Amino acid sequence: MDDADTPDGTLPTIAGVSADLDTTVTGPTSLPLRPELAGLEPYGAPQLDVPVALNVNENPYAPSEQVVADIAAAVADAARGLNRYPDRDFEALRADLAAYLLTESGVGLGVEQLWAANGSNEVMLHLLQAFGGPGRTALSFAPTYSMYPEYARDTSTAWVAGRREEDFSLDPDVARATIAQHAPSVVLLASPNNPTGTALPTATILAVLDAAAQVPGGCVVVVDEAYGEFRRRGTPSALELLADHPHLAVSRTMSKAFGLAGARLGYLAASRELVDALRVVRLPYHLSAVTQAVARAALAHSTELMAQVGSLRDERDALVVWLRERGLQVADSDANFVLFGLFEDRRAVWEGLLDRGVLIREVGPPGWLRVSVGTPRETQAFKDALVEVAGL
Ligand SMILES: *Cc1c(COP(=O)(O)O)cnc(C)c1O
Repeated sequence: MDDADTPDGTLPTIAGVSADLDTTVTGPTSLPLRPELAGLEPYGAPQLDVPVALNVNENPYAPSEQVVADIAAAVADAARGLNRYPDRDFEALRADLAAYLLTESGVGLGVEQLWAANGSNEVMLHLLQAFGGPGRTALSFAPTYSMYPEYARDTSTAWVAGRREEDFSLDPDVARATIAQHAPSVVLLASPNNPTGTALPTATILAVLDAAAQVPGGCVVVVDEAYGEFRRRGTPSALELLADHPHLAVSRTMSKAFGLAGARLGYLAASRELVDALRVVRLPYHLSAVTQAVARAALAHSTELMAQVGSLRDERDALVVWLRERGLQVADSDANFVLFGLFEDRRAVWEGLLDRGVLIREVGPPGWLRVSVGTPRETQAFKDALVEVAGL
């Protein structure tokens, strides 16, 4: 055991000094926790061992054996150099990400316009560290991703939630007025939005970019496209707006469409100026050589992964139709999940499904539930359970 530890986990006393410290070191209640963190629980959906897990919008398909083999070989190669720190600027990975976005969205970007971190959660934290902070405000429009206020809290940035409409769209005039009123330094827009599945039209994003450009001192607009690959045909990506808007950042992740949630790789595209600001706040070597190798090996298989995304999109559209045919309300979805309701007692429906081995998410405005698109077998299990529980 390290001699800094004692068997019961308490702090060791320091000979000759402990008497003087007795008045200050009294036990756990004396920890100088930031007051805004007092009593808070860590964020996260329950991780339960169930036959059908449709609660956190993962890709239901594990990597193919070919992808597994390539990842294993890439990791072995990286392991041979693990005595050295990794490439701090992960240029090869950034080049691969740029090439992927060119194929996926038709938008050409330079390596210096890409950024990556351990999940888009860390990318968002970098954004708030660089552009938020004490005396500044971050703004989004609810209902939206519940992690956003946590990034604000952790960076001592004030948090404001504007409102979306009844159908979860964002009214451009409401967005403009809210931005003008609060003068945020960061606006976060999830599109497609979580938990509603709603994608924003280009005109709305342009209205937000325009309002942000008028904020004194400047304002960065982050479009979180974690579910971008699942957007319906004809829905554009905000990547197309990057060339004309240096205060725009578009974030993506390998956690959802890419089926690589366990690898922790999120990224964004933005102007070089914006990316350079993120390079200042990142921890040195934040992206391990193993993470870089895993991501690059998976990106080399993006063509087959995109075919799989196509079938998940079809499954999603069919699920929306099925739920509507049973008289339920369903939000239009450009993501790999569907928000549906309305239930007088959604907790009872959620529990009834769980009793039948199907885990979904109790999230969103009262009365709504969210289900991720699974394999056809998993989706069938969800439908069968829902028919029983809700008496459809
Ligand atoms: C899942 C999700 C992410 C991705 O988070 P990672 O840290 O990349 O796994 C980001 N934004 C939203 C809205 C999400 O739902």
